[in-house]
Amino acid sequence: MKRILLLHTGGTISMSTDQRTGAVKPSGEHPLHKYSHLFEENLQIIEEDILQLPSPHVTPADMLTIQKRLERAEQDGQIDGAVITHGTDTLEETAYFLDLTVNTSFPVVLTGAMRPVDELGSDGISNLQNAIWTALSNEATDKGVLVVMNEEIHSARYVTKTHTTNVATFRTPTFGPIGIVSKHEVRFFQKLVFYEHYPVNQISSNVCLLKSYAGMDSTLFEALLDKDIDGLVIEALGAGNLPPATLPGLKKLLKRDIPVVITSRAFNGIAQDIYAYTGGGKHLKELGVIFAPGLSGIKARIKLLILLEQKLDSEQLNMIFRQ
Ligand code: ASP
Repeated sequence: MKRILLLHTGGTISMSTDQRTGAVKPSGEHPLHKYSHLFEENLQIIEEDILQLPSPHVTPADMLTIQKRLERAEQDGQIDGAVITHGTDTLEETAYFLDLTVNTSFPVVLTGAMRPVDELGSDGISNLQNAIWTALSNEATDKGVLVVMNEEIHSARYVTKTHTTNVATFRTPTFGPIGIVSKHEVRFFQKLVFYEHYPVNQISSNVCLLKSYAGMDSTLFEALLDKDIDGLVIEALGAGNLPPATLPGLKKLLKRDIPVVITSRAFNGIAQDIYAYTGGGKHLKELGVIFAPGLSGIKARIKLLILLEQKLDSEQLNMIFRQ
């Protein structure tokens, strides 16, 4: 008999609708507990409510709690797969955090829901079922942490939430999903070309994320100068460019020896140093920023938080982000 570790952390998948007001909120009894019998044929589900948070409340400390539980399961050696239910707002951040920090011999799959379990057309139970099937699939090992939503399997590194309410919200820009769950069948069509793992026991750094815009100046960079930050990620314009008026503030931050990582605010494609005009990618690179090709701003922030625990120099940081 196979064993699945099912960790609930909160989010819409574990909330119910107040029939009087229509408000969606956590209920006393976890609604999914009523459904685990659906999956128990030849399967033992070890179900734990390790957190009960709407995902905007989730912090890196909570991500560490989940990571530690998975590591304990790996040491115990009795689990064939782990499924984590999570609010969808920050699901991709927790998924990528786990992708970078746990290296289990069993598949780790995150899922959630866009509609609470008692809403018409709720996606929670089928997402959970698909996530369990994926975690049980032999093919799901060695593919990094996976996100299963709306019958698609995505890699944690690139998946993102793209719609506020639609059930088809999780997408992987540029690269697409790596597999699908079609009826009962789990099928993979792609895998990542490399995987990376870093040991972490704590997250002690503060990394901020800024989004660029036409006419951006140094105001936000200046505002960060006297703040206690250890790193900055910027979602730059296009392939990785910034307006010239940002440069005075950016230079002052770089002088503080803070790693500044450049991603793109564009939905598809990768950040690269292409343009040599003032504020263009080549110019930014000369100033000492680090490019993170392929990562979104929020993923690059998670990676920088983890890399800052590794005590690397700027050349090593550059190299690791370039991968
Ligand atoms: N706001 C909710 C959360 O992230 C949304 C969801 O779970 O779908 O907790």
